[in-house]
Amino acid sequence: MELNERAEIDTSQVNDVGRGGGSGGLGIPIPGGGGRGGLISIVVAVLVALLGGGFGLNAMTNGDDTGQAGGTDLEQVCSRDNPQHLEDLRCRNALYVNSIQGYWQKAYPELGNAKYEPTDTDFFQAAVNTGCGQADSGVGPFYCPADRKVYIDLSFYDELASRFGAKGEFAQPYVLAHEYGHHIQNLLGTNEKAGQGDQSGPRSASVRLELQADCYAGAWAKNATESKDKTGQEPLFKSITASDISEAVQAAEAIGDDSIQERSGGQVNPDQFTHGTSAQRQRWFQQGYDRGDPKTCDTFGTDQL
Ligand SMILES: [Zn+2]
Repeated sequence: MELNERAEIDTSQVNDVGRGGGSGGLGIPIPGGGGRGGLISIVVAVLVALLGGGFGLNAMTNGDDTGQAGGTDLEQVCSRDNPQHLEDLRCRNALYVNSIQGYWQKAYPELGNAKYEPTDTDFFQAAVNTGCGQADSGVGPFYCPADRKVYIDLSFYDELASRFGAKGEFAQPYVLAHEYGHHIQNLLGTNEKAGQGDQSGPRSASVRLELQADCYAGAWAKNATESKDKTGQEPLFKSITASDISEAVQAAEAIGDDSIQERSGGQVNPDQFTHGTSAQRQRWFQQGYDRGDPKTCDTFGTDQL
């Protein structure tokens, strides 16, 4: 993968909220259980962290606000006048977000019979307030349907490399494209419908939702080299190679439910699947990539998951 250093990165699509940042309001509190089963299942269904296992929503501790306030001027850092801009993880991730949303601007109208509604990604550190409650980095990257934003602590990529062995850079846009896949599902109403179905198990609504997000990520990857920067003149990627695609496939493989269960020392228990097996996640990403068309990502209409 080669990024185009001449591309103008649109940093208005991302926010560097730093430590403990976020939208301020408490939003929906994550219930501790009892009495609000409907809400719990909705929250669990929609707070779809990339890692099925690493899913613990913790309240933020007091005093966390002494860290970085965020609000770095990314526009300056990521300007193409800064010769080092592509070495900055945030700028590269902003470029990925630009490419993913550029893709959906074109592809969504055919899928949803409506205009694509863009949404931001917040880069946070350690913990963040969201429209879905407070979250810490342990949950992994996630999409919050209530405020329609993608959240990621960029240090997640280190964990993906060290703990899950997904070292390639292309794992990063895969992760983001997967989360934007959940945004597409939110715009389409797919996740709301799926919230009424089973939330775990090999054929559960949750697994279907996750595999579809992987397939959407593959569809983006197929079309990514066509995406242009905000001037509409420069491509964002100079090239994406077969080895990049296999890095994404490897990442999908590494975070399958069965692999995570095995790695955490437990037995593989399909009843607890929420995201799909390694083989399924690979297959659906690959299918999205091979077909390059999100309409072929119908994980709800098939039993061949
Ligand atoms: Zn997901």
